[in-house]
Amino acid sequence: MRSTAVARGARGAGVWSDGPGRWLAVALVGFAAVFLAVGCGGEGSGAAGASPKVIRATTTTNFVTDLVEQVGGDRVEATGLMGPGVDPHLYQPSQGDVQTLQEADAIFYSGLHLEGQMGDIFVKLASQTPTVPVADVIPKKMLLEPPEFAGAYDPHVWWDPMMWKMTVDPVVEQLSEIKPDSADYFEQRGEEYKQKIEEAHALSEERLSEIPEDQRVLVTSHDAYNYFGERYGFEVKGLQGISTESEAGAGDVQDVAEYLVENEIPAVFVETSVPRRNIEAVQAAARDQGWEVEIGGELYSDAIGDPGTPGGTYPGAAEENAETIAGGLAR
Ligand SMILES: [Zn+2]
Repeated sequence: MRSTAVARGARGAGVWSDGPGRWLAVALVGFAAVFLAVGCGGEGSGAAGASPKVIRATTTTNFVTDLVEQVGGDRVEATGLMGPGVDPHLYQPSQGDVQTLQEADAIFYSGLHLEGQMGDIFVKLASQTPTVPVADVIPKKMLLEPPEFAGAYDPHVWWDPMMWKMTVDPVVEQLSEIKPDSADYFEQRGEEYKQKIEEAHALSEERLSEIPEDQRVLVTSHDAYNYFGERYGFEVKGLQGISTESEAGAGDVQDVAEYLVENEIPAVFVETSVPRRNIEAVQAAARDQGWEVEIGGELYSDAIGDPGTPGGTYPGAAEENAETIAGGLAR
């Protein structure tokens, strides 16, 4: 079973090199240095041996951390590399991160190139540590392939809760493999978490249905909500494309502004993990055309909120987003 996870890790990262390979090349050089510097000094990898008391898991984005913590309970200690407000597309692992990854009993990341600068390190680590790109469990036919990313999938699957719910199973599976005496415990917690996700979906659906159909347009900084749009019937426009690595051009800003004016859309949204300047530029461009568009609030996109706040769990963040969107557009 472990080899399955390893193979999955290698394949998940491989898709990336078929896509915009230039980014990969740059990333590889940068972080090969970091990787080599830390090198083979690690001895603490728990990849082999008897069932550990507490599984040490290293995770990337904080919604993956939430997933692993919810399933793992007090039998897993998850260390997330990326906190609230951190953009995973641009995230470069530090030396300390590499060490944290090397010392883990298991590594969980979102995958589909979301963590665009870390593809190579995952491939390397997969030969020594169970490495699970959780979104790889989603059937490929359900994934969106944006035309500008030929051969690569849109990674932002988590904003369709019914898709993200599927990522619980590979986590349960991997944790149970490392700690078989807790398999029932993980299974039970996994089911409870799925339930919470379903509840968040039901609440979101109800709240979003209050928005008139012709106002269901979500304009944000980057394309993080295509799956959300498919699920809840929204037209979605992101200024920066699928990854924040591409900058919005003046033409994009004008086009989106014109769209807002023509369709009398009352609000646009900023994201917690992306600077707000592009959205403010759209607001200004719409104003120049005589249409006042409000900033409807801040949405969680590639990161959820602070631990201990309502948006600090994935289901809580999904509900909060629905609330913010409905508040901005339902009038
Ligand atoms: Zn993104």
